[in-house]
Amino acid sequence: MNLERTELQTDGDLKASEELSLRRTRPPKEIPGYSIERFLGAGAYGEVWYAVASNTGRRVAIKFYNHRASLEDSLIAREVEKLVFLSADRYVVQLLDVGWDSDPPYYVMEYVESGSLEDLLKVSGPLPVDRAVEIFHDIVVGLLHAHAKGILHCDLKPANILLDQDGKARLADFGQSRLSHEQKPALGTLFYMAPEQAELSAVPDVSWDVYALGSILYTMLTGDPPFRSAGAIGEIDSAAGLTSRLDRYRQIIQHADLPVAHRDVPGVDRELVDIIDRQLAVNPRRRYPNVQAVLDALGVRQRNRERRPLVWLGMIAPAVLLAIMLAFGFWGYSAAVSDSAKALSSKSWISNQFAAELAATNVAHDIESLFDDAERFAKRPDVLATLQSTLDTPELKELLSRLHDPNLGMSERAQLVREFQDHAAREPLQDLVTERWAAGAGRYASWFLLDKYGFHIASSAGKSVDSPVGGYYGYRSYFHGGEEDFAHPAIDPRFHASVPPQGGIYPTATDKTHLSAVFLSTASNTWKCAISAPIQVDGETIAVASLTINVGNFPRFEGSPEQFAVLIDERPGPNSGMILQHPLFDELLQNESRLPDQFCEDPELRVGVESIGNREMYDYIDPLSHDPAGAALAGPWIAASQSVRITPGDETASRSTGLVVLVQEKQASAVGPIHSLGKKLATAGVTAMAIITALAGAMWGFVLRSGSRSSRGSFLGSGASATPIHDQATVVLPKKH
Ligand code: ADP
Ligand code: MG
Repeated sequence: MNLERTELQTDGDLKASEELSLRRTRPPKEIPGYSIERFLGAGAYGEVWYAVASNTGRRVAIKFYNHRASLEDSLIAREVEKLVFLSADRYVVQLLDVGWDSDPPYYVMEYVESGSLEDLLKVSGPLPVDRAVEIFHDIVVGLLHAHAKGILHCDLKPANILLDQDGKARLADFGQSRLSHEQKPALGTLFYMAPEQAELSAVPDVSWDVYALGSILYTMLTGDPPFRSAGAIGEIDSAAGLTSRLDRYRQIIQHADLPVAHRDVPGVDRELVDIIDRQLAVNPRRRYPNVQAVLDALGVRQRNRERRPLVWLGMIAPAVLLAIMLAFGFWGYSAAVSDSAKALSSKSWISNQFAAELAATNVAHDIESLFDDAERFAKRPDVLATLQSTLDTPELKELLSRLHDPNLGMSERAQLVREFQDHAAREPLQDLVTERWAAGAGRYASWFLLDKYGFHIASSAGKSVDSPVGGYYGYRSYFHGGEEDFAHPAIDPRFHASVPPQGGIYPTATDKTHLSAVFLSTASNTWKCAISAPIQVDGETIAVASLTINVGNFPRFEGSPEQFAVLIDERPGPNSGMILQHPLFDELLQNESRLPDQFCEDPELRVGVESIGNREMYDYIDPLSHDPAGAALAGPWIAASQSVRITPGDETASRSTGLVVLVQEKQASAVGPIHSLGKKLATAGVTAMAIITALAGAMWGFVLRSGSRSSRGSFLGSGASATPIHDQATVVLPKKH
């Protein structure tokens, strides 16, 4: 395709190119003083040859106006005029001489050795972004100088950009250039020419050169000028005549998709895309208003690029610092919280241990004073006298000895028990026991006397139907002093009185005051224990005086729902681990007269005695929390325990009671303050971090925004084609007759 001469388009390129190639072997004319050596290039109006000045040996380029020289004689004048104007500019090819009167006319200029930008693109294809921007920058500066002198180039394209030995760009071919006040139209080259330029009556404008600049940069990056495609070329070529060709060109650009190939070029940044897009805007008003604005945008982009590593450093460094601070802060925070929680836990354990010791001591003192009560009663002379006279009463003696017989028939025993209970001779003893019970004003659950074989002979429970009087209780630990009750003998259902076992009675009453094993009060399902003192004559036990108390009445460590004491039976045996006293029981007994059975039956609701010992327990689970009624007790507790040991009367060594006090404190409430402090610290830390991040973000947002006031115009396009770049010639104005 040859766009050189529009009107020859359909006339066969062959002839033209033959003519051209013929010419190019020989310069149009020999110029005295120069030896013309070779053809350099040709454009729409001229032919450029390389020559050497004979006198100086200087290398020059001579441009001949061999086309329509006569018609376009003003052309050389115009071009030379502009070159003279720009003679001091190092971005513009320098004029050396003019052959006005020669035929064809010519001018001599400095030879620019590296050829045109078009040659470079033909050889190397699209340029690396940095190189393209570098050349572009030179072109922009050159053009800026030209514009400053009032010269519009009007035909900027790679073929008209020459590269010197340093690779610096120089503007050449001012054949279409216009002075800014000139009204004469100037046609550029298709696909480098602004759409509004493609009109024969258009008045030259700065924005034409701005558009062409954009096209050149686009071409350097993508290899093809914008909007150029085989289809577009075909459409233009099929038009007849220059006017309609130009119309087609305008329409193609106005209706085509915006070029986008430059966006996909690796290394092309957002700002460069914006710069190109804004130069290629179809509407000239949306382009940069002048070349200076293009240069400014390039400068801003360059500064931003230089600043970018700093910006990144500025953003990443605080982020890294923040992350390190956060990591250390979190580490320190968790360590501090866990250390403090540990310290607080162990402090809480110590205070619980202290409370448990205190409570155990109080219980021990209470038991010791009950020991005193029992012993004092057992030693009272009136008690002894009454007891002896009662036991010596022949009828009672007879009744008791018959009751002692384990082989006694049931109904006969019932009869004898009633007789014994109702016997008037028993009354003085009965009264003594009842009196003693009443004197306690509620301190004692009961008082009673057993004969030396374990038969109840007097009880504060009196003559009620439930009265144990007459029954056998020798198997009970309160009688024999053992750790636990012996095997349970038969009970006469009519009298609740026990029958001695067939194997015989247990005449093993201890000769020492002692504390019984705990036993269940069937009425309330709560626990009782008895303190029994032997009544002795000449060192021989003749009877046992016992008092019973409710375990719930033992003095206790008055705590709170978060910290309280419980009493546990730690003796091996059937009740091992049984909780005897617990705030939950008190709570339940406020509304009910009897504790639900599971609290004395369910092994789940007992404490693992072996596990409590005297160990420090930081994760103690209250067994009663397994019962729905004890749901509020859930959660780990910090617990300390202390066995209750007594040193009764004149004894010197302490004895174990089998009871243990456990003081438990809710872990959450013990270490709660630390956790809430921790939470506050964490919240403060997170807030501080958020504020720092937000501030840093805002700061950087500001810095970045103020740094990149990049030109933004979204006039994009597509249509890079594989069409070769060459043969792009300035559109020639039609012949004027
Ligand atoms: P036209 O007006 O006919 O387009 P140009 O001035 O653009 O003529 O020159 C045509 C070609 O000649 C250029 O594209 C370039 O390759 C070559 N040329 C022009 N001037 C020089 C020069 N001073 N030094 C080297 N090559 C040149
Ligand atoms: Mg040219």
